Amino acid sequence: MTTTYSNLRDIDGQAVGIRCTAGIIDAVGPGITAPDAVDCGGRLVLPAFVEPHVHLDKTLWGESWQPGRRSERLRDYIDNERRVLSANPTPPQERAGRLLTEMLRHGTTAVRSHIDVAPDMGLSHVEAMLRVREEWHDRIDLQFVAFPQQGLLCRPGTAGLIREAMDMGVETVGGLDPAGIDGDPDGQLRFIFDLAVEKGAGVDIHLHDKGDLGAWQVERIAEYTAATGLAGKVMISHAYCLGMIPETRLDQIGQRLADLRISLMTSAPADIAVPPVERLTEIGVTVCCGSDGIRDAWSPFGNGDMLERAFLTAYRFDWNTDEDFRRAIGCATTAAAQAIGLANYGLRPGARADFVMIEAQNAGDALCRRPAGRQVVRRGVVVAG
Ligand SMILES: [Zn+2]
Repeated sequence: MTTTYSNLRDIDGQAVGIRCTAGIIDAVGPGITAPDAVDCGGRLVLPAFVEPHVHLDKTLWGESWQPGRRSERLRDYIDNERRVLSANPTPPQERAGRLLTEMLRHGTTAVRSHIDVAPDMGLSHVEAMLRVREEWHDRIDLQFVAFPQQGLLCRPGTAGLIREAMDMGVETVGGLDPAGIDGDPDGQLRFIFDLAVEKGAGVDIHLHDKGDLGAWQVERIAEYTAATGLAGKVMISHAYCLGMIPETRLDQIGQRLADLRISLMTSAPADIAVPPVERLTEIGVTVCCGSDGIRDAWSPFGNGDMLERAFLTAYRFDWNTDEDFRRAIGCATTAAAQAIGLANYGLRPGARADFVMIEAQNAGDALCRRPAGRQVVRRGVVVAG
């Protein structure tokens, strides 16, 4: 089946049309129309948003209000979350489904979610999220990371569960502060990278450790990536440390990350240093933005709108030129797609026909206003709006 969407504007403001056949874009550009074309009223068209980092299994979306809390210690948040989630009677697949509905409505059609794996919950969250993937396969592409939220080596039994999660269909091996949480950086990294090699999988590590300790671990992750041949399959999430080191060292590490195609994800938090996105992008590192937890026991913030996350990224860095805004949107689209390894992504012939149409003049207008009414196309067909 062929469908043509006409009277659109691309990110540069150029009038374009898009022709889709069998879920693939077969033409995009000026003058593309057809007698039966869908007139899109001059809307801005972007490739569909990609959420590269969320925790679907832990969201409290649709539940009664859960106040946030404050602590200096990561471990306090982890323990609090166990209390909140074990007292919550709603199955994780139901909460996740509600959030996915929001994400799709805002224009996201591909999501990487971390899933908690720990001895006290076993593989229950993995089982629930695999069911969610099945239920949602015709609307959102889901990929998963087995995530040791409570620690990996410091929680005996977790390593075996991660291995089992991979056997069940999880694609990526997760890690968490190899030094700060496990206190055994080489032990955790050796396990993660060996398992990823064995399973033909990728790696995605939450790294909150700050300053030199964090930067040293980024370098260790690069060494493991090179030694195991996993270039192009590794992401480091957060990496606050890269915003805390001198420029010369940042440039050295950035070059190493670019060479090994290790990508970075930031949620652009306001209260801590973050990787300098513009400088790292210039060096050639793929830096994307992600929501992280949305409305969960860590924080009531977040709404599943990647246009808002791109806005928060721009706001965090005080970006305000058109070039800045295009870069910010890139963090939620092309960079995110590249970071999680999506093939055939983008507004180009041969790519999957996944795009979002927004009532906005251009990238900057969309980012600053974040209009609500959006139409979302997946595999050439309108799936939301
Ligand atoms: Zn996270």
